[in-house]
Amino acid sequence: MEPMVIDIKNLVFSYEKSLVLKELSFSVQKNSFFIIIGPNGSGKSTLLKVISGLLKPKTGQVNIFGIPIKNYSRKSLAKIMALVPQMVSVDFPFTVLDAVLMGRAPHLGVFGLEQAIDINIARQALEFTGVEFLAHRKMNQLSGGEQQRVFIARAICQEPKIILLDEPTASLDLAHQIRVMDLMEKLKIEKEITVVMVSHDVNLASMYGDNLLLLKAGKIVNIGPPNEVINFKTLEETYGCTLLVDESPLGKYPRITLVPKKYLSSTD
Ligand code: ADP
Ligand code: MG
Repeated sequence: MEPMVIDIKNLVFSYEKSLVLKELSFSVQKNSFFIIIGPNGSGKSTLLKVISGLLKPKTGQVNIFGIPIKNYSRKSLAKIMALVPQMVSVDFPFTVLDAVLMGRAPHLGVFGLEQAIDINIARQALEFTGVEFLAHRKMNQLSGGEQQRVFIARAICQEPKIILLDEPTASLDLAHQIRVMDLMEKLKIEKEITVVMVSHDVNLASMYGDNLLLLKAGKIVNIGPPNEVINFKTLEETYGCTLLVDESPLGKYPRITLVPKKYLSSTD
């Protein structure tokens, strides 16, 4: 049997004294769109950093394609996995093309020189994310949303088998949100890439995720397809707010509507 792309068993992680991930066990299937949701501070970014090898678990196992993550060198891991970090404002004076070309680093030879083919791949990645017109601009002169799309292009340029993204739509306008989600779906379908995304947008997660992992205070509340994970009771308990869940007019996706206080019958 083919190993799972990501297989996690009894994962425990803590930053010094604070325990953040508590005995997590789950796996991610090949060629799937896997979305991690949950309240602020529930450990989503930490989990993504552990999966990417940036943080080491305290105990438990993280296997990537059946091999313990600690057995991979940094370079061999970078060949199969790319991380698009949570939005940080970049202040380096590289051009967009240079920033995207950095994604080729794990594939370059001992001298680290880019060939014409690497530049081609970088240009295709820029085209794929719709920022080729920015190729010669400086990174620190772009808007947050433009930088975000450049980082996604860099991840694509890395030609990984797994793309990890931390809230990639957070600073994007509506058109670019849907574009990033469509892009990830396209990578999944056309390039057989497994996409693991942290998202705060439960409605987008519902429409795109093959499987969702709902995290609360470092524990798994629920895992499975959107219509199993997203239900009114679970979400209200997890997020601690009032909401409605019905079906999207687009199809059998659960749709979440937040309920403002003025709509609640007041008893206080
Ligand atoms: P999320 O991405 O779900 O909002 P995080 O994984 O960023 O959550 O954080 C989970 C918890 O770990 C939070 O309580 C946060 O304050 C804490 N935390 C995050 N990064 C660090 C760090 N570098 N050192 C100590 N605690 C941290
Ligand atoms: Mg986070």
